[in-house]
Amino acid sequence: MDTIRIPVIAGDGTGEDIWNASREIFEEAVLKTTGGSKRIEWVPLVAGLKALDSHNVLLPQETVDAILDSTIALKGPLTTPVGGGFRSVNVYLRQRFDLYVCIRPIRWFRGLPSPLVNPEAVDMVIFRENTEDLYRGIEWKGGTAEARTVVDFLRDVMGVEVDPDSGIGIKPMSRAGTERFVRWAVGWAVKANRRVITIVHKGNIMKYTEGAFREWAYETAREFDDVSAEGVQGKIPINDRIADNMFMQVIARPADYDILLCPNLNGDYLSDACAALIGGLGVAPGANIGDDVAVFEPTHGSAPKYAGLDMVNPTSFILSGAMLFDHMGMVETGTAIRRAVEETIRAGIMTYDLARQVRDGRAVKCSEYGKAVVERVSASGV
Ligand code: NAD
Repeated sequence: MDTIRIPVIAGDGTGEDIWNASREIFEEAVLKTTGGSKRIEWVPLVAGLKALDSHNVLLPQETVDAILDSTIALKGPLTTPVGGGFRSVNVYLRQRFDLYVCIRPIRWFRGLPSPLVNPEAVDMVIFRENTEDLYRGIEWKGGTAEARTVVDFLRDVMGVEVDPDSGIGIKPMSRAGTERFVRWAVGWAVKANRRVITIVHKGNIMKYTEGAFREWAYETAREFDDVSAEGVQGKIPINDRIADNMFMQVIARPADYDILLCPNLNGDYLSDACAALIGGLGVAPGANIGDDVAVFEPTHGSAPKYAGLDMVNPTSFILSGAMLFDHMGMVETGTAIRRAVEETIRAGIMTYDLARQVRDGRAVKCSEYGKAVVERVSASGV
């Protein structure tokens, strides 16, 4: 029997609940779809708060080494303090492994609640640039010597007056960073034969960052024979939308949108907004992909107030796992997991977050939901 080693970071807050409910689903799906010829060996790793406790660092070297060695990882949510404290380990992991493409599929399926009248129109994939923009973490607290140095530089050298007690953040977006991201995402869209590509930006206001992102994205898309900005028949159309309008469009006209190419911050905001169209963050999976490593994680955070209550929805983590198996070339395993999730939700078995949006919805525990999915994987005819 072959062993597949998969590093896993269960994460903080609700991370353990979700991991406990999901683990058996992955194991059963691998056994079932490989006829018992493969099994998973989990490699448990720590990062963030737990790593601070056990190793006194946020990202231990053994975690980094294990992920580099396997080139993949499954990751739960990690807590980041707001307004101070340490920087986000989630963001640091993406930068450490240069995971420059974030993929977040947003697809409604029968049984999911939605605020939309026609939710079946929702089938989008958000591509979020994952290493640049304000997420580079280049910022200085207002009133510090560093912030004042920048304020002085802006006044003395650049001729720009900024309130001296301002906090300062820098938003770098490069041509090279945008090009490699767009090349990857458009290549994916062409291979998957998708319907339309939309560049999302706030280039009317931030001309040399978000506006440049738009220009560079169009330029890069021109490298693809199958894509056209001029409406050539038979080619995938590419267009662009200003970010604020985009938030309205995904709600008002979801059928018109398919692949969304977003800079880092806009992609982050838009991911949660689009998740609301298909039941919420509990069902929104994601992948962070680089040239050497890929880390699969749900869109949501650690939802600390629900930690340990066996209550939250593990679907986003389960579907992130399905994306991991697709990435490993085990598409049958990924498909079996997705099918079992869909059957479970269609049968009206759901956690509180979905049940409260459904008429007469009855919530099951996180662990009970996980068991119901395992049963459907076991019963599947793969
Ligand atoms: P959150 O995503 O944890 O929660 C936002 C809302 O979504 C809450 O109402 C929560 O109850 C709900 N929710 C989240 N996960 C759910 C699930 N699995 N099932 C059902 N409902 C779910 O966002 P937050 O409260 O803004 O942040 C909490 C912490 O998570 C912060 O420390 C933040 O930095 C961190 N965070 C981590 C990641 C990550 O690990 N990639 C992403 C976002 C936020």
